Amino acid sequence: MMGWGKRILESLIVALALAAAACNIAGQDLRRITILHTNDLHARFLPDERGRGGFAQLATAIRAEKARSDAALVLFAGDLVQGTPVSSIFQGVPCYEVANLLGFDVATLGNHEFDYGWEKIREYLRVARFPIVAANVVDEAGTLLTGDGYVIREVNGLRVAVIGVLTETLPRLTMERQRGPWRAAPVVETVRNLVPMLRPRADLIVVLGHLTGEEEEALLRQVPEVSVIVTGHPHGGQDAVKEVEDRLLVKVEAYGRELGRLDLEVDRRARRIAAYQWRRIRIRSDEYAAAPDVARLVESWEAQVRTLVDVPIGVAERDFDRREVGALIEAAMLEATGADLAYMNPGGVRDGLAKGTILVRHIWNIMPFDNVIVYGELAGAEIPVEALRGRSVDPARRYVLATNNFIAEQWGAAGARLDRQGPDVREAVIDWVKRNKVLR
Ligand SMILES: [Zn+2]
Repeated sequence: MMGWGKRILESLIVALALAAAACNIAGQDLRRITILHTNDLHARFLPDERGRGGFAQLATAIRAEKARSDAALVLFAGDLVQGTPVSSIFQGVPCYEVANLLGFDVATLGNHEFDYGWEKIREYLRVARFPIVAANVVDEAGTLLTGDGYVIREVNGLRVAVIGVLTETLPRLTMERQRGPWRAAPVVETVRNLVPMLRPRADLIVVLGHLTGEEEEALLRQVPEVSVIVTGHPHGGQDAVKEVEDRLLVKVEAYGRELGRLDLEVDRRARRIAAYQWRRIRIRSDEYAAAPDVARLVESWEAQVRTLVDVPIGVAERDFDRREVGALIEAAMLEATGADLAYMNPGGVRDGLAKGTILVRHIWNIMPFDNVIVYGELAGAEIPVEALRGRSVDPARRYVLATNNFIAEQWGAAGARLDRQGPDVREAVIDWVKRNKVLR
């Protein structure tokens, strides 16, 4: 009897153990979370001429997708400012005010956040009612510009760490005075160094980055503890999730034309993604009505700008393409400085000029950047080749050359010799159009 009893007891224990194991497999502790994400909004408050984007329309989409989620996290991957008169005139601050209505949980910095000078970022941090994190934007002492490099949020019982990072190419994308004491430390190394500290405190590690394609790829391959990477900077987005083992990378098209939705099932114990689905939601004004609160705030800013920039200053008798507009800017630079030669970089000319009335707004669209004219004397032999545009100069003769301060900085020693400062490039062009009245 004892033998039987023992055997029954043993069988019972085995059965219970098996049941427990089965229970563990079945109830893996899977948690569902949704990551809604966007990047590179670039101050495009209003839908474009084709009805794409718009902050108020994007807000409606974010709210609708949130309502359709068990638990959502809304992430913004940098470059909120720069690209419209509202942004240039008010130096990006209204973008953060309006973004407060979009429901961002976490944002990171893009390179264009430095365009109005790094000091402005301090103001963005004050205005934003959501955390802005960048773990690798540091000064000499290792202090972070954003204060925090990451945040941890509890979403559906899951502790999610979100680390912000900015491209190491920042020095090529900004001027020294815009960056001030700040630099972007190596991305992979920064994230890797945070992992040991975050692992015990987070079930899922997410990187929110404003990165080049190479940097995304390196992060995805080299830091396996990071399960999800949400990025921006390239403006084209992507067609499918980039995947390495069970790690994922997503980004969407710029200017609010898309909202990304990444649905995750996370195995909390194994700290891995068990399943996912990703969708890009097109933001079109015929599909998403403007959220009234966002539309009101957008309108209050656009109305202020309208009186400043919807001012006629001349007439274009024909269409001018961007190359021709570049030539007009150079003509304005010559008149403003009395220089012998002027150079405007093609990349700095952001729009053409359409036939008809020329408004101040059009000049802002052409040049949203706040650059000034700089000029000075150089020997013909010292003039950078792109500034010559095939023109021949006497190598020994001295010429006065004018360009914008961004290009002068890129020219290094030759640029440093352009030590006289003229007016703001945009102001010089506006004055030039006013004087010429009719462009043929
Ligand atoms: Zn951008």
